[in-house]
Amino acid sequence: MSDDQFLKVRGLKKYFDAGRPGLLSSTKTPRYVHAVDGVDFTLRRSEVLALVGESGCGKSTLSLLLMGLEDPTEGTITFEGNDITHLKDHERKELRRKIQMVFQDPYESLNPTQTIEEIVNEPLLVHGIATDKNERDERVKKAMEDAGLKPADVYLGRFPHELSGGQRQRVVIAAALVLEPEILLADEPVSMLDVSIRAEIINLLAELRITRQIAVIFITHDLGSVGFFADRVAVMYLGRIVEIGTMLEVLEKPQHPYTKALLSVIPVPNPRMRRERIILQGETPNPIDLPTGCRFHPRCPVAMPACRVSDPKFEILTKTHHAACLLLVK
Ligand code: SF4
Repeated sequence: MSDDQFLKVRGLKKYFDAGRPGLLSSTKTPRYVHAVDGVDFTLRRSEVLALVGESGCGKSTLSLLLMGLEDPTEGTITFEGNDITHLKDHERKELRRKIQMVFQDPYESLNPTQTIEEIVNEPLLVHGIATDKNERDERVKKAMEDAGLKPADVYLGRFPHELSGGQRQRVVIAAALVLEPEILLADEPVSMLDVSIRAEIINLLAELRITRQIAVIFITHDLGSVGFFADRVAVMYLGRIVEIGTMLEVLEKPQHPYTKALLSVIPVPNPRMRRERIILQGETPNPIDLPTGCRFHPRCPVAMPACRVSDPKFEILTKTHHAACLLLVK
């Protein structure tokens, strides 16, 4: 199996029912929230892919689809060559062992009445792994130490409220690692943490992809937070990936006007290299009533009349259409 077949997403869509239009509405057709609207990408073994976009762009719904916590409306997901788009409950449970999620809020995701040992041990009990207690204890300690809670004995009997925010997020990561997953889906894993400890958690994820050969999908609204550890970046806007490339390609030669706008607001340490800020006008359009043509056109600083009617396919968009955009946006 080629490395490209590790995780492959094709034409993935998730529409949520937005209810019937009101009595006074001129249209009676059902309405849908187009949360994820035709997403394609691949993830290689032990690769770090950053999924970047504003809130409401569909990145969190995409992660729920990958975890099997939502059923797609259309499209396919294959993992290690197997179609995992629609699984039965027992198959889904096995998948969850291999694809683990790290949530944004370490305060919400830990049970305050459990000790750290109980929290990290629980996934083993749920999945019926390591029935021997000594083996379980060993796996719990190893996961904790790999997550940076060293020595593990110091933390085993503590409760979440006795730990700092960064230590709690390490407990969340340890509870994922204990199942020896192949993919970590980290949904804004540092956004609730103090700036001083964000880099520590990002460094930890970077280490894990090497020491444990884990692939990481790092979901974030902050393109600036992933620069030094992601291999590739996918930029999402209104349910679609509008640009994907290696970190260097996207940071140094962004193609899409939306990516350029995101990059322009990242602070640069060297004042001589200050970028011109691109402030996008208006709000993100309503995902129920999507704009015609290119869905970015109402906010695009280089939109052309044709953009209101034609919705170029992603490949065409990056290869040809944006050649025109590039002439206009420095
Ligand atoms: Fe902007 Fe048009 Fe390109 Fe859309 S297709 S990003 S509106 S230039």
